[in-house]
Amino acid sequence: MKYLLFCFLALAAIARAATTQKTPNIVFIFSDDHAYQAISAYGDARKLLDTPNIDRIAKQGVRFDRCLVTNSICGPARATILTGKYSHLNGFPNNSNSTFDGAQQTFPKLLQKAGYQTAIIGKWHLGSDPTGFDFWQILPGQGVYYNPPMIKMGERVAMPGYVTDIIGDVSLEWLKNRDKTKPFMLMCQHKAPHREWAPPLRHLGFDQDRVYAEPATLFDDYSGRGVAVRDQDMTIAKTFTDRDAKLALPAGISPEQQKVWDAYYGPRNAKFRAANLAGKDLVSWRYQRYMHDYLATVKAVDENVGRVLDYLDKEGLAENTVVVYASDQGFYLGEHGWFDKRWIFEESVRTPLIVRWPGVTKPGTATRALVSNLDFGETFLDVAGVPVPADMQGRSLQPLLRGEKPANWRAAFYYQYFEYPSPHRVRPHYGVITDRYKLVHYEGMGEAYWELFDREKDPNEMKSVYGEAAYAATITELKKELTRLRQELKVPAEIPARFYGNQGAGGEGGKKKKQAKQGDL
Ligand code: CA
Repeated sequence: MKYLLFCFLALAAIARAATTQKTPNIVFIFSDDHAYQAISAYGDARKLLDTPNIDRIAKQGVRFDRCLVTNSICGPARATILTGKYSHLNGFPNNSNSTFDGAQQTFPKLLQKAGYQTAIIGKWHLGSDPTGFDFWQILPGQGVYYNPPMIKMGERVAMPGYVTDIIGDVSLEWLKNRDKTKPFMLMCQHKAPHREWAPPLRHLGFDQDRVYAEPATLFDDYSGRGVAVRDQDMTIAKTFTDRDAKLALPAGISPEQQKVWDAYYGPRNAKFRAANLAGKDLVSWRYQRYMHDYLATVKAVDENVGRVLDYLDKEGLAENTVVVYASDQGFYLGEHGWFDKRWIFEESVRTPLIVRWPGVTKPGTATRALVSNLDFGETFLDVAGVPVPADMQGRSLQPLLRGEKPANWRAAFYYQYFEYPSPHRVRPHYGVITDRYKLVHYEGMGEAYWELFDREKDPNEMKSVYGEAAYAATITELKKELTRLRQELKVPAEIPARFYGNQGAGGEGGKKKKQAKQGDL
């Protein structure tokens, strides 16, 4: 009897401890088009920039070295995160004719139901109004860098200043004024460093005209790969506009701001025009300009990450808050001569992901496990102790955060891109990615064909080895895996024409139509 009483008291104590343990808060800081090459914690060979605040998260947490996205563009990546589902199931396959159905199940709604206070601040880019949030203040569409109008709970508001600082300010304001009796989930979503990479005025010239090392593939001639890679329209050589190059003013800039802008760009642009560059010299010049501007926008993102981390420290919230830094996809910083994203290739399919969870993540660790933005929603629910619905297609990263890798963790990942031909003429493709290989199937323009990349031998993905006898068994295996994944993920055999965007997959007819508005990516 005494023993039973002891057991009862012990169990009661355990139950009490479990209920008094605080539910963790979640701060999800998310940027747009932030290449892992431009985060110092990822250690790019070019050493492009120091990001001390994002690195703070890495120093106290886990850096994911192979976080792959399901469909490498803005809106689809966001829809995948909210739903934990691929584009073909969440109904948002492209940026040109998709509208997010806010009536469907999303992780913020489930957190809200579980008692979380939820907010989204910054870029949304899903057409419909946000659902599942107690507070939302978003940029309309793509948003602008200077003096961006925003939509606050349905009302348009004027916001003078620089977009990244404004998103930081509104996020901190919300944190300060939140209902402190509830756990919270904040999505702080930066516009930067999206095209056209307009820097904060305080960082113009921050690099003191440093000459950045060029990537080895800046002058890629696309031999060794098929027509899709040769036919794209996203090169620094051909696709870069005057606005991209800061030879034209950005949208929304005020006369006072323009004075500072002109003082920096004016003399440099005059020198550029006088030099009358062409060919490779012009590409090299544009690459340097691109790096200055892109990295200056990242600098402001990093500073605003620091402001949020400082607030969590100051308020004693850091210990009980999971902080996640990620981007909606990767980005080309001159590799293959490109900017933009979309491809299954590494710089675009792979996005930064760094997670800090005090007491759970081992400081300064990294993993090469194949993870995805498909897993984010599931992870947030799992962290909050909310059951993950069976129809979500990803998997909670919680074991990996604890430093464990389950034996049955995914060894292959399915990728599918649709939007074509505008903008950037990247052909629809799908494929399977493993630790070593990428098998890709292209479609559109009446041609369908395969490519295979062996990343162990060809890390820059310069030459398809599809059809080489030495890879015959590998190809058979990968095709089997691809079929299995497509079945498991419920990929329809026939893709509806609207998935490819307003112009369909026809290509030739589409070319005659108006190109998507520049910057509307
Ligand atoms: Ca993006």
